[in-house]
Amino acid sequence: MRFDFDIAVVGGGPAGSSTALHLARREGIAPERILVLDKAKHPREKPCAGAVSAWGLDALASLGVPLDVPHVVMGGLRVLSEAHAGTHASDDLGVVVRRSDLDASLLARAASDGVIVRDGEGVTAIARTDPGFRLTTTAGEVTARLIAACDGAGSTVRKLLAIRETERKGHLYVLETAPTPKDDGLDARLCDFDLRVCAEGLEGYYWDFPTIIDGARAVSRGIYHANFTARSDVKEALARSLAVRGVAIADVKLKPFSTRPFAPGSLVSVDGVALVGEACGIDATTGEGIAQAILFGGIAAHYLAQALRARSSDLSAYAHEIPRSRVGRHLLQSAWLARRVYGAQGAGYRAFLARSRKAREAGALWYGGRRLGIAAKARLAVGLAASVVAARF
Ligand SMILES: Cc1cc2nc3c(=O)[nH]c(=O)nc-3n(C[C@H](O)[C@H](O)[C@H](O)COP(=O)(O)OP(=O)(O)OC[C@H]3O[C@@H](n4cnc5c(N)ncnc54)[C@H](O)[C@@H]3O)c2cc1C
Repeated sequence: MRFDFDIAVVGGGPAGSSTALHLARREGIAPERILVLDKAKHPREKPCAGAVSAWGLDALASLGVPLDVPHVVMGGLRVLSEAHAGTHASDDLGVVVRRSDLDASLLARAASDGVIVRDGEGVTAIARTDPGFRLTTTAGEVTARLIAACDGAGSTVRKLLAIRETERKGHLYVLETAPTPKDDGLDARLCDFDLRVCAEGLEGYYWDFPTIIDGARAVSRGIYHANFTARSDVKEALARSLAVRGVAIADVKLKPFSTRPFAPGSLVSVDGVALVGEACGIDATTGEGIAQAILFGGIAAHYLAQALRARSSDLSAYAHEIPRSRVGRHLLQSAWLARRVYGAQGAGYRAFLARSRKAREAGALWYGGRRLGIAAKARLAVGLAASVVAARF
């Protein structure tokens, strides 16, 4: 059977562009056999704080894709907990970008490689043709042997193929404002993770990240609630954190957004369909997924190409690989950590992060996808255990 395309990549965010670029540049798939569909016309707005960890930038660089959009290099992390505040300065954490810029640039690169990019064309129905798929889009019909579902937290592919959800979704609000006099970390380009909201029962953090809008300094602010426990007062907690920074919530327009966490048992593929990026799941502790989507794209491309060569729709090797890959293990650690840091006994974890220089240093390395040595891990485990015990008594 002849298909219009070998692979239909549904969604042209970081996961979709990375999958297409890896397929074409690393896996030797003819670019004109790869179709990327995105329901939005790029550049499109994407609600996001835009923090991209160095891990994702490294993955792009190794593909020959430099960062060519306006960005702020993160100058460090500042962690605020109930009783402590601590900073870790580093220029090796990553950058903050506007998502409309980054996503449009990555998609344009895929198109300039010869990948067929059709933005402004959404997928509305999918039929299995065995082998392959017929996708109905807002512009017509198209057939493909395999699908890469890269369509994010609200994944239409998951809905159309009735792929079950394995985890509760996290909740976020995001906004951007001009700096206020209270933004005392801005000159040092610090990214603030304010864990004090946990004392109010939130399972997450409030953030202030330096960003750039039309060449001017700005601050991305918002709140993340991992949502292990449902709460209806996330916006109120955001309002209180904003007020401390001199921002009135009444002056900004806000909408709630969701994130899909990656956790043990998360589905990674079904027959002929690879779930990539947030269509699969992202970091439960930080609520972040850009770098992870880029990394997933590289792994998915490898197994999609393998299946294509074998004329097979079996992507179980991809599902097997993801939890064993570095990024998969990182996400599983994060799922474990989120329940501890934001859980009922989390005060000790949060205090440790804010108080211990070594803990922040390790947190920064972990955030950037760097490896921790065994000695560093052991020191952390001991320090953490002591902090958790101290918080109990
Ligand atoms: C408020 C907020 C703040 C965040 N802040 C950060 C942060 O600072 N750092 C970080 O790393 N992560 C952050 N995240 C998470 C991050 O935005 C996502 O994890 C990331 O965008 C995932 O990339 P993706 O390519 O998998 O999906 P997306 O970027 O969501 O891309 C999916 C694409 O699929 C398209 N699509 C959807 N449905 C269809 C359809 N039916 N047909 C065709 N196309 C379709 C969409 O138009 C979209 O372009 C944040 C998320 C939110 C909500």
